[in-house]
Amino acid sequence: ATAVMWFRRDLRLRDNPALRAALSAGPAIALFVVDPALWGPAGAPRRAWLSRSLRALDAALDGRLVVRHGDPAEVVPAVAREAAAGSVHVAADFGVLGRRRDAGVEEALRGLDVPLVRTGSPYAVAPGTVLTKQGEPFRVFTPFSRAWAREGWPPPVHAPRAPRWVELPSDGVPAEPELDGMQLPEAGEEAALARWRRWRERGLGAYADSRNRPDLDGTSSLSAHLKYGEVHPRTLLADLAKHPGESADRFRTELCWRDFYADVLWHAPHTARAPLNQQVGAIRYDTGPAADAAFAAWAQGRTGYPIVDAGMRQLRAVGWVHNRVRMIVASFLVKDLHVDWLRGARHFMHWLRDGDLASNNGGWQWVAGTGTDAAPYFRVFNPVTQGKSFDPDGEYVRRYVPELRGVAGGAVHEPWLLPGGLPAGYPERVVDHGEARAEALRRYEETRTGA
Ligand code: FAD
Repeated sequence: ATAVMWFRRDLRLRDNPALRAALSAGPAIALFVVDPALWGPAGAPRRAWLSRSLRALDAALDGRLVVRHGDPAEVVPAVAREAAAGSVHVAADFGVLGRRRDAGVEEALRGLDVPLVRTGSPYAVAPGTVLTKQGEPFRVFTPFSRAWAREGWPPPVHAPRAPRWVELPSDGVPAEPELDGMQLPEAGEEAALARWRRWRERGLGAYADSRNRPDLDGTSSLSAHLKYGEVHPRTLLADLAKHPGESADRFRTELCWRDFYADVLWHAPHTARAPLNQQVGAIRYDTGPAADAAFAAWAQGRTGYPIVDAGMRQLRAVGWVHNRVRMIVASFLVKDLHVDWLRGARHFMHWLRDGDLASNNGGWQWVAGTGTDAAPYFRVFNPVTQGKSFDPDGEYVRRYVPELRGVAGGAVHEPWLLPGGLPAGYPERVVDHGEARAEALRRYEETRTGA
């Protein structure tokens, strides 16, 4: 019988077990549903990325991608009926909304006697699989990562030979939103694989040393490609095994973080909006006009702390921020400006091209101390020393903060010390880091003692 391959976060033809399952059931329809519940709230960068990725998938399918708009619980059964399909194939979705949506679609398909067949997931190891010996979820990364590696993952699957596609009318790939000057790299499976190959040859060897350096092209920049499943982590893990060494181990660990945060969210879906650690989560955050002004300065990259401002401007310029700088700017919002991490997380989700609920929440909650950091009470990033350590010559700052381009070397991290005073147009510091840090530590102490 004809099968429907319903693409979601797996916009690729290679190493796609669900696609293989669909095509081995019979000739298939390649379906993507533009769900207003997901498309509407997504920020312009993610909508643009998705639109480009769908265009690339459609091209790879010689124009046979069937795009339909609407609630999947109505659209998917309608397409199944239209094609007299015997099955609908997907990669399992473990996200908070995705789970609920899939349950609704499965229910609606049951009325047609058509099964929703889940094969594979967007992760190397599916959420919920890795458990402690007592059968409990892990809350700390290192033991999770050991158990994750023991669990292992299957080898990549080959793309089906001579796939047979059935054509149906398509509403067409949704138009890209206005990006306001933001520059995005090329999306789609070919671009993802090309980026991986290039970076594997030129970047991977130095990853262990340079992954924390935002001034270098030290990381893979694969996050948006992974987010949309243009490449699967299994493909990367199989390749890494052929390039053993410290850097490959480190890269494997980063892919494990992605699985870890998906696992945390799977076990505790409420942490999409609420703290995992409720004791630390009870910390006092500032609200009201002063907090709003502080948040605005942060969001615009006008805090007066160069590494923070560079990061927030990088976000708006390219929809991506280096991991080290994500930690620095998140720490600054929560611990220097005392603003709720959730506000920052929402801002990130809006502007990131790789915005992913599990990784973003995991990252923010780790920094805020409400998540999986085992030492939540006293870690406060110093934006000046972080800048000097990880952007030693100040190149990253100068790339994104034009007001500071005239300042040479690492002095760019403390422009208030320059003999000529602050360069024109660059703001004064919105807070004194030393005082803000002391205040943060006081508030964390309150949560610990319940004072
Ligand atoms: P590389 O260093 O090349 O790593 C390879 C891949 O491993 C990444 O593409 C990513 O899929 C995964 N990875 C690496 N670090 C992490 C991590 N700490 N957590 C989870 N996965 C990781 N990542 C997202 O994909 N989406 C987000 O919305 C997101 N929000 C974040 C928010 C904060 C506050 C923090 C601190 C981190 C966040 N991260 C997020 C994780 C990380 O910053 C990015 O995955 C990374 O910067 C992407 O760049 P890269 O592909 O060059 O990474």
